Amino acid sequence: MRACPVCGNSTNQTDLWNMSNIARCSVCGLGYVKRLPTLEELAAIYAADYWNGRKAYTDYLADKVGTQLHFKHRIASLRQFSSGGKLFEAGCAYGFFLELAQAYWTVKGVDFSEAAIAYARDTLHLPVEQGDFESNPPEPNIYDVVAMWDTIEHLYDPALAISKSVEALHSGGYLALTTADLDALLPRIQKTSWRMIIPAHLHYFSRQSITYLLEAHDLKVVHFSHVSYYRSVRQMAQIITWNKPDSRWRRQLQNQIERLPFMGSYIPLNLYDIMFVVAQKL
Ligand SMILES: [Zn+2]
Repeated sequence: MRACPVCGNSTNQTDLWNMSNIARCSVCGLGYVKRLPTLEELAAIYAADYWNGRKAYTDYLADKVGTQLHFKHRIASLRQFSSGGKLFEAGCAYGFFLELAQAYWTVKGVDFSEAAIAYARDTLHLPVEQGDFESNPPEPNIYDVVAMWDTIEHLYDPALAISKSVEALHSGGYLALTTADLDALLPRIQKTSWRMIIPAHLHYFSRQSITYLLEAHDLKVVHFSHVSYYRSVRQMAQIITWNKPDSRWRRQLQNQIERLPFMGSYIPLNLYDIMFVVAQKL
């Protein structure tokens, strides 16, 4: 089994919730897959309808309005630290964040998904590139902000990604990220059925392990909170009827729900299991 990629401990781990494939480091608290998937396996995981799929996102493109609602809050929070300059986003997906962020910063981004990058580049006309962040890092010492929304848990080497982010920032610049919180109440109750336990997630952080990782790279944590995500009533209805077998009552229920006038409304939902962390380069 591999050593903990955050603290290097190789002798002291347990299985996370008795899952044989995920270890939990007893030193820094990181949860991590014991065997990293190969690039081919990872491509298969993402190709399996990741963006439009049932597991991670009900329909990422169709939900642009909701996604940009929580990004507006993220930008308002970020602007308390950085009012302008250059911003780089690692894992920019379809560019929904960069499209809003370019009102305040000169933006750039990278993402692993070719389909997502094609949309960001060709439809939103954003300066983005396809590739993995660790081997396509931004230019050093020029960025005011590096953002990583729900990305670090997907990366092969989170420590390398943080080190590349720190190199990209000028002194005093900010790294801002969101990721799932393994020590939150919800995962402690739901354990293996927590919605964050999916094959695309290779690392599971907590406040303890993310702080350990950031401080090890000369970053000082200046903000920590749990953030809301906007969900439409339609999405919540889909989530409720998620894995239920197709049946007449379910179709009837869905038809009834679809007729409700507030189906398209968005509601902020905070399950207190997604951390928002801002850290400053010393
Ligand atoms: Zn560790």
